[in-house]
Amino acid sequence: MIEARGIHKYFGSMHVLRGIDASVAHGEVAALMGSSGSGKSTFLRCLNRIEEPTEGEVLIDGSIITNMRTDVNRVRADIGMVFQDYNLFPHMTALENVALGLIHVRKRSRSEARDAAASALEQVGLADHLTKHPQQLSGGQQQRVAIARSLAMQPKAILFDEPTSALDPEMVHEVLDVMRALAGEGMTMVVVSHEIGFLRKVADQLIVFDAGLVVERGPTVRVLDEPEHERTREFLRALR
Ligand code: ATP
Ligand code: MG
Repeated sequence: MIEARGIHKYFGSMHVLRGIDASVAHGEVAALMGSSGSGKSTFLRCLNRIEEPTEGEVLIDGSIITNMRTDVNRVRADIGMVFQDYNLFPHMTALENVALGLIHVRKRSRSEARDAAASALEQVGLADHLTKHPQQLSGGQQQRVAIARSLAMQPKAILFDEPTSALDPEMVHEVLDVMRALAGEGMTMVVVSHEIGFLRKVADQLIVFDAGLVVERGPTVRVLDEPEHERTREFLRALR
């Protein structure tokens, strides 16, 4: 479903991705882990062309999306992204935030967009908060609005970049519960997260980054319990 082949990324002379291959099957949850600066966010952003890889290609359902002919807005709608800091528009209600992409990218009518946005917000447990603005919502609720915004676009996959790391501890579980439910419904997901308990239950595949390279990958439980690479062991020790 998502395939990355030989992805390199330079920022100026800084070589931050040094040849990453990855493959995520339809309905699979893949987790990315690794120390700060190892390239996880950059790689994730290359998968839906928020960042352009310097070299290499990304395929979605067998089609190359990293070429000139591909409409990047379409790619970003098909492959949703949820950020650490939600990225909601402060002057818009939850409903308006979710409806926006439906109107402008999916070209739905206002009333269709409103209905689809309301149903996505209901799906993440926010049916009672449609007309609130972001500052009237908790961090966990804002992050669920952001998830609803991706979901409403009926994406082929959703990318999550540390979706719970800006949240107060008591709000982490409400976001992870929504993500677990999505995974259970068969959503293809790539998740940067260090929530080990969550990953153990939900992630099929764990990919460990170090300095722009993948040092280890495999079934999540195997990598967590029997890490083969010294960098993975060091990283997991530091988390405990
Ligand atoms: P963290 O765990 O801290 O989020 P990460 O693994 O997500 O780290 P990236 O954000 O992908 O790491 O960054 C990889 C490297 O690329 C870092 O050295 C970072 O400073 C650099 N980098 C990222 N984005 C840019 C940018 N837009 N311009 C220049 N350098 C960048
Ligand atoms: Mg990051």
